Amino acid sequence: RPLLSAVDLHKAYGSTPALDGATLHLRAGEIVAVMGASGSGKSTLLHCLAGIVPPDAGQVHYRDRELSAMSDAERSALRRTEFGFVFQFGQLVPELSCLENVALPLRLGGTRRRVAEQRAAEWLGRLEVTEVAGHRPGEVSGGQGQRVAVARALVTAPRVLFADEPTGALDSLNGEQVMRLLTEAARHTGAAVVLVTHEPRVAAYADREIVVRDGRTRETVLAER
Ligand code: ADP
Ligand code: ADP
Repeated sequence: RPLLSAVDLHKAYGSTPALDGATLHLRAGEIVAVMGASGSGKSTLLHCLAGIVPPDAGQVHYRDRELSAMSDAERSALRRTEFGFVFQFGQLVPELSCLENVALPLRLGGTRRRVAEQRAAEWLGRLEVTEVAGHRPGEVSGGQGQRVAVARALVTAPRVLFADEPTGALDSLNGEQVMRLLTEAARHTGAAVVLVTHEPRVAAYADREIVVRDGRTRETVLAER
């Protein structure tokens, strides 16, 4: 049984259609790339799957719960405890050190500072950016910042990691490094990954590929990896 399922989603912003029959089943621990041209509906699909945007029609189930049947408080609790997020850029708190940024989700969940920072330090090590622990996000490179963002997204051991163009602002070498570390870290914690990207080189890190075109999904089964 899938961990997270979206069935026949429809969504329009005013008169602009964004999703027009999108279906995606995500099994525990698998990495799925959502591919497609700019404006095809990839981000909207991710936002519906994560319970950030309500679809106009269709259903999203996480385990046995339908997201639209949950209260706002239940959906935000779900996002905080079961989901992790990585975006293209701009997600780290500029006033905090990189270590404090990674520790933040644990601190917000009530973990004591010493324990949270020790776990954050382990995660910076896993993402091979131990050296930026004491620096603020503005003082590190784009690739380092994204590795810190991945550490922060996974430090709470979410069941699903949502990554929207996580390498979009990086050159190809840094992008490959972030994808290698992101996929290794997700496999380590057993998190499933929804990876939105328009780059085939990034999608190559996934187990499976879904193509979105004009708001409709099509599955592409890839050769064994
Ligand atoms: P992608 O991620 O593939 O680039 P999006 O899901 O961002 O696609 O967008 C799908 C369509 O919905 C596009 O036409 C886009 O302009 C429109 N859209 C997305 N978000 C909004 C929004 N918040 N308000 C209005 N239109 C939107
Ligand atoms: P696009 O398809 O153009 O990348 P997105 O809808 O993915 O647009 O979001 C645009 C930016 O807004 C992202 O780069 C991300 O930094 C930020 N963003 C979107 N959703 C969230 C969220 N739930 N929490 C924090 N930042 C977000």
